[in-house]
Amino acid sequence: MINRPIYLDNHATTPVDKRVLTAMMPYFTEYFGNPSSNAHIYGWESEAAVKQARNIIAEAINAEETEIIFTSGATEANNLAIKGVAEAYFTKGKHIITLQTEHNAVIEPCQYLETLGFDVTFLPVEKNGLLDLNLLTKTIRPDTILVSVMTANNEIGVIQDISKIGAICHENEILFHTDCAQAIGKITLDVKKMNVDLMSLTAHKIYGMKGIGALYIRRKNPRVKLASQIQGGGQERGFRSGTLCTPQIVGFAEAVKIALLELDSENKRQQELRDYLWQQLSTLEGIYLNGDLFQRLSGNLNISVDGVDGSALLLALQSVVAVSSGSACSSTSTKPSHVLKALGHPDSLAKASLRFGIGRFNTKEEIETVAQFTIKAINNLRHARI
Ligand SMILES: *Cc1c(COP(=O)(O)O)cnc(C)c1O
Repeated sequence: MINRPIYLDNHATTPVDKRVLTAMMPYFTEYFGNPSSNAHIYGWESEAAVKQARNIIAEAINAEETEIIFTSGATEANNLAIKGVAEAYFTKGKHIITLQTEHNAVIEPCQYLETLGFDVTFLPVEKNGLLDLNLLTKTIRPDTILVSVMTANNEIGVIQDISKIGAICHENEILFHTDCAQAIGKITLDVKKMNVDLMSLTAHKIYGMKGIGALYIRRKNPRVKLASQIQGGGQERGFRSGTLCTPQIVGFAEAVKIALLELDSENKRQQELRDYLWQQLSTLEGIYLNGDLFQRLSGNLNISVDGVDGSALLLALQSVVAVSSGSACSSTSTKPSHVLKALGHPDSLAKASLRFGIGRFNTKEEIETVAQFTIKAINNLRHARI
């Protein structure tokens, strides 16, 4: 087999952990029943497996089992949360607040709502990627119905002060949604402590399968109303119709369980690797760290490189390391990432940026290779320009 590059794009997706795959296997061929079939054992077996998985996921965020709705991933969960609230609460108000640095799965639904007459404020962030809480307070209006702020950013890894943001929302009786696609399994989540009403989750960033995620919907203090976006058989308490995918759901729960068991040790290990990488790369001139160094995911390093072309740098690296530049979802375009732009970088800097996403299966040896090779590639490109 040819040598494939070292995978350092774990914010885009992760491989399925073999332990997760093992947990999923029986539910493809043996326990294949429809969890909604309540007349026979095939259905009961699947229903029991889904119930257990739902419990594990609920417990992981300190929620109740009935507050978890399975979706196809965080994109769908974000869409359901944002459009669902807009449709259910528009008589109360039509103002929504979010950040310029959100994932497109939040930004696009908000822009869609603008075309329907909603008023959305896309707040800027500070230079380190964090939201200024005073700015949030000042932006709240009597007709604000929803605030959506991601917990951990998928590009620069910064972790927002979610419990304080949630407290501000609740003081003002505004619903609070947070996209936790990058946060689940990497930092401790607690919907009660975080004052969160809606939380989007996904499995494939934590070694589960692609195509499965969940939305937490608070049922008490306040009880959140949502307009469903997919109608049909009435599964998931009517919030999201469609036959449940038992293997993916079982795998999602297994992935969460493993991630929480290994949370402390993995955070420590990945942070050591990340800090080593940054220490090595920052020996070069003209290298800038994007996002707060301390309030960030342990496996994330995002840098801007002065004096080199972003796509040339990716090209130079691609045989050795798989990383992404700008936003993973738009890495084929040469547009600078909207997240880096929001940090106030000039376009050229925002273009020549690299996101290293360290994950569970990366080793010290790999990071050493990547550090050496990246330094060499940057030096080569810089000298070629003169
Ligand atoms: C990956 C990601 C998403 C999209 O999740 P899917 O499960 O792939 O739909 C949304 N938000 C953030 C922050 C992400 O990192």
